[in-house]
Amino acid sequence: MKVLVLGATGSIGKQTLDVINQHPDKLEISGLVSYSSDIEGHEVLHTKDNPDAQKQINEMINNTDIVVNAMSGAIGLESSFTTLKAGKRLALANKESLVVGGDLLMPMDRGNLTPIDSEHGAIFQCLIGEDHAEVKQLWITASGGPFRGRKNLDGITKEDALAHPTWNMGPKITIDSATLMNKGLEVIEAHHLFNMPYEKIKVVVQPQSAIHSMVEFIDGSVKAHLGTTDMRIPIQYALSHPLRWKEPVEPMDFTKLGSIDFEEPDMETFKCLKLAYKAGSIGGTMPCIMNAANEVAVSAFLSNKIEFKNIQEIVEKAMENFESEDVESIEQLKYKDKDVREYLKNICIFK
Ligand code: MG
Repeated sequence: MKVLVLGATGSIGKQTLDVINQHPDKLEISGLVSYSSDIEGHEVLHTKDNPDAQKQINEMINNTDIVVNAMSGAIGLESSFTTLKAGKRLALANKESLVVGGDLLMPMDRGNLTPIDSEHGAIFQCLIGEDHAEVKQLWITASGGPFRGRKNLDGITKEDALAHPTWNMGPKITIDSATLMNKGLEVIEAHHLFNMPYEKIKVVVQPQSAIHSMVEFIDGSVKAHLGTTDMRIPIQYALSHPLRWKEPVEPMDFTKLGSIDFEEPDMETFKCLKLAYKAGSIGGTMPCIMNAANEVAVSAFLSNKIEFKNIQEIVEKAMENFESEDVESIEQLKYKDKDVREYLKNICIFK
């Protein structure tokens, strides 16, 4: 099968290439897309300063079997849309596609969407063979990020925030993990992917990240998905589904794992998770508004323009300023995204 990798030089992209290299009898690269970086020995389409990039990506999508969408941010939405429209397998790591455009994407899915996000990959597998009506609730696990246990977010530096305790990921998602916005985005992603109301999607902190998520059924049974904390396992499953191939990394050694702890997430200190539940429950374009504000705020934090604690304040401010509308089109979502970015340029914190 031919695989097109969008975001090929990012963390998920590189790990996807490793999985492809481990299964040359099953997979081959049909194309690579990245913002600006190269990969030795491969031709890469660059999207930076390339006004025709999306058109070229859409052509590449038509000439492949599987698209791994590992772009970062809402910019990944259109490629997800084109992939599902073309009836191709969409192995999705770009969670913003569903957060922003879930209302458009899910009605187009004919069983072609396989999640790469470890939590959703876990839930996806726990649900195989199960009846949707017999699911009581979903439990999305969270590591809690590097600031778990803190009660105030003053004085946090970029270096502190980029040091994630269990997963090794790109800068945007690592900051999202530190603010718990990543978990918020995942709650909205789960709502769309598994057609679950928000009151049936729970977050539980599991600091060792050994359990990747759980599904609780109406009879009290709970299925949990466990494994080594290495994204190559969920990436590979998103490509091999419904089959399983030989493991791409060392399997988990339970005798060395020690204990598994659970605790409640602190949504008062880490407001982003609460804001995401709110945006998801309001629905329509509110998750798009929230996501755009978060992208602006994270990028400003990464360029040392704002403090860590300002991220959640900026997201909240944008959500207060804009009203939600029903989602109608990609163009509408792009416009809304741009609108939020323009608005934030003019608020005092950026002056
Ligand atoms: Mg995740």
